[in-house]
Amino acid sequence: MAIQERIPMREQDPEVRITNFLSVPLGYSAEEAVAEAKRCLQCKVPLCETGCPVRMDIKDIINLIADEKFEEAFLLSKKDNAVPAMTGRVCPQEDQCEGKCVLDKTGQPINIGKLFAFVADWARDNELMDETTPQENGKKVAIVGSGPASITCAVDLRKLGCHVTIFEALHMAGGVLQYGIPAFRLPRDVVDYELSYLEKIGVDIQLNQVVGQNVDFEELKKDYDAIYLATGAGAPRFLNCEGEKLKGVYSANEFLIRVNLMKAYKFPSWDTPIFCGNKVGVIGCGNVAMDSARCAKRLGAKEVYILYRRTKQCAPARAEEIHHAEEEGIIFKEMISPCRMLGNEDGWVTGIEMVKTEFKGTDKSGRPRPVNIEGSEFIMEVDTIINALGTTPNRLFLSNVPELETHSWGGIKVDDNFMTNIPGVFAGGDALSGGSTVIEAMGNGRDAAESINKYLNK
Ligand SMILES: Cc1cc2nc3c(=O)[nH]c(=O)nc-3n(C[C@H](O)[C@H](O)[C@H](O)COP(=O)(O)OP(=O)(O)OC[C@H]3O[C@@H](n4cnc5c(N)ncnc54)[C@H](O)[C@@H]3O)c2cc1C
Repeated sequence: MAIQERIPMREQDPEVRITNFLSVPLGYSAEEAVAEAKRCLQCKVPLCETGCPVRMDIKDIINLIADEKFEEAFLLSKKDNAVPAMTGRVCPQEDQCEGKCVLDKTGQPINIGKLFAFVADWARDNELMDETTPQENGKKVAIVGSGPASITCAVDLRKLGCHVTIFEALHMAGGVLQYGIPAFRLPRDVVDYELSYLEKIGVDIQLNQVVGQNVDFEELKKDYDAIYLATGAGAPRFLNCEGEKLKGVYSANEFLIRVNLMKAYKFPSWDTPIFCGNKVGVIGCGNVAMDSARCAKRLGAKEVYILYRRTKQCAPARAEEIHHAEEEGIIFKEMISPCRMLGNEDGWVTGIEMVKTEFKGTDKSGRPRPVNIEGSEFIMEVDTIINALGTTPNRLFLSNVPELETHSWGGIKVDDNFMTNIPGVFAGGDALSGGSTVIEAMGNGRDAAESINKYLNK
């Protein structure tokens, strides 16, 4: 039997979308979603579900969409996932649910992410919410941070009847979903709507509250029955090379926070200025690098280069992001590594010295190990450099709670139940892993909620 091809997703034309920050995918219509859902083979053993860290009932949800039962499909997806419209848009499905779909072998797996985004968007258009009314159990839990790990932990505990308060350092909730991932991948009306669900079910979100600074951790320990720490991994890594402090050199975190959280792309109607030159070099090839490069393009840069010491095939970025970046004219320079940054007498960056690399053996993760080829150095002219080399756990909180045990690289240490060395204090998300994915952080938040509930009831 011939395999029916995936229903294609309509998208903004690349020439048009590099002039705006609007969503690149235009979403499925109801007819398209039903047609895509009908391609599902409804396997007896749905392998797709084994690829989902929050264990969604993927097969049944798709079946409901195929039967045009969108309300039921939405409510079932919401059972295990507080933010299906967001994960439908940003999960690396090719490594998770879609990667396990039996149709993946044909190159045409079911477009699970886009189907889930469709059904969540349909619910939003129809002002449908999961109307859970929790039965209060009298327990109080404080959650530090409001990213995906915290969101999931908060919703699960609230549904169990706990009084949950989230303390978020920034002036907006959502963690990376709000300050990192650009609106053309994750529109902010989608973020706002899905976050409004938390308040609707009674989660208290306190903004501008930096635990360890203006909120005392010792006070939290006294006032709450348990604490969950999901402070993320927002501290940038640096090359520590010559010229890194020149003007025009950014960490990806600063660049993306300015653009996304502080809305620099709306300058001057928003107050945040941003310098983005004509020739931009982005170091790295993960999602953060793709987001930085694509934002730079939208801010008007003529040439944007991804500078990567391996090849695209080894890149940690989602396949869709690489594909979209290439469509938008981002130029990939592979097998090169940065040595130093060059500047002019006014202190502005003017170029970057790169060295060619070759593969020799593999590293701990099994990826080919790039080594520099001596004598192959060359200079690229650039007027902006964005450093997207990866991040480490946020130190601000950790430095204020010295009794909390961490690994040498900064990740919080926990036991099998996600409890830290401080009784009643649990932790999760990127603060443990040093950086992973939205859905991994959510799966982590779910497991921690289960452990916290057991701890509260023991
Ligand atoms: C630019 C970018 C793009 C990405 N793209 C993708 C993608 O496409 N798909 C994907 O699956 N993953 C992606 N990721 C990774 C993913 O976003 C993270 O793995 C995930 O957000 C981790 O969730 P978290 O809840 O652990 O932490 P975070 O989302 O980092 O949230 C932590 C929160 O804690 C707050 N906080 C920190 N310290 C304190 C304190 N002392 N007091 C109070 N609050 C505090 C921070 O302000 C922040 O809001 C991306 C990451 C980045 C940076």
